[in-house]
Amino acid sequence: MNIHEYQAKALLRDFGAPVSDGVAVTKAADAKTAASQLDGPLWVVKAQIHAGGRGKGKFKEAEAGDAGGVRLAKSVQEAADHASQMLGNTLVTHQTGPAGKQVNRIYIEDGSGIETELYLALLVDRSTSRIGFVCSTEGGMDIEEVAASTPEKIISFSVDPATGYQPFHGRRVAFSLGLKGGQVKQCVKLMGQLYKAFEEKDMEMLEINPLIVTDGGDLKVLDAKVSFDGNALYRQKDIAELRDETEEDPKELAASKFDLNYIALDGEIGCMVNGAGLAMATMDIIKLYGAEPANFLDVGGGATEEKVTEAFKIITSDPQVKGILVNIFGGIMRCDVIAEGVVAAVKQVGLKVPLVVRLEGTNVEQGKKIINESGLDVIAADDLKDGAQKIVKAVKG
Ligand code: GDP
Ligand code: MN
Repeated sequence: MNIHEYQAKALLRDFGAPVSDGVAVTKAADAKTAASQLDGPLWVVKAQIHAGGRGKGKFKEAEAGDAGGVRLAKSVQEAADHASQMLGNTLVTHQTGPAGKQVNRIYIEDGSGIETELYLALLVDRSTSRIGFVCSTEGGMDIEEVAASTPEKIISFSVDPATGYQPFHGRRVAFSLGLKGGQVKQCVKLMGQLYKAFEEKDMEMLEINPLIVTDGGDLKVLDAKVSFDGNALYRQKDIAELRDETEEDPKELAASKFDLNYIALDGEIGCMVNGAGLAMATMDIIKLYGAEPANFLDVGGGATEEKVTEAFKIITSDPQVKGILVNIFGGIMRCDVIAEGVVAAVKQVGLKVPLVVRLEGTNVEQGKKIINESGLDVIAADDLKDGAQKIVKAVKG
């Protein structure tokens, strides 16, 4: 689960990290009052969307002006003007995709004088199963670009959970970033605060790009992007409350309400599968035969007819879906339940694209009978390969 920058900064502030003062607003009418609560003489007006690259982004609507989603202002009035230009308009960044994201909230912050911009991230390092630090002197830039062109400028290491964070970890970050004198001490303290926040709040990633050295020579968190482990939200109630559903893919949101493991993708073939492994194999084989999956979906072992119906509705609500492949290998999942769900869903939402169904396993004969007697226009497949070939053929001709 992701949160907004203003929420991430409030959280890090609670752990003692240095962040600027700021006020979040959702209405243009409140922007001036918000800005006047801050000292100036510089204000930063920042679009709050769950995507990075806001500074270099572009608004779709002309009324929002030519500037991006992070703007500097020299007066309260100018800050308010930027806020009202951005609110309600659509910001496109390299992370939003061409559709962009509507800006429903603005964070107005006390502006900082910047000496240097640095990069810092904490993440779960899967290769070592530890929390890792990643840092670079190339802050404020697209880190993927730095990794591709000058990988030697990215330094990373992980922390042994048996010892936890130690001051030498902080010094290692400080020296990698070229910090001097009192900044080293600040860095040791800040890294400890960030590590504690990361661990206590079950974060998956904490990215600070940029971490800055201010013109006064102090470290400050200027941007913050945080994502949390969704499986830990049951014990992080305060974090779960920060969820902003308007930022999420409506299909993924609907799926989460029905406890379906669904991830939206860009392709044209909707997939309904049981089991994560089989779902991945299904996506692979669709690609092998020359098409792209529109989603990952694991309906799970104990799916009910209702759940299958919802899953089918979510798949068909995607206008990019040009065909659907149902691939069920019934173990715990019964083929007749899947068949009932598919038939019920098609009766509710209709079927405008080709549907290939491959059923195998528990109660397969009953399942096939239900489909055959339903009068639906279904293409039957015998195995995974046959199913993938048939749906690709039906969609691509
Ligand atoms: P992003 O583009 O979504 O990553 O948003 P950031 O919060 O990282 O802001 C983008 C850029 O705006 C930063 O890299 C800075 O160069 C600049 N910026 C952000 N806040 C301030 C500030 O307080 N003062 C100054 N001078 N520049 C800022
Ligand atoms: Mn940034």
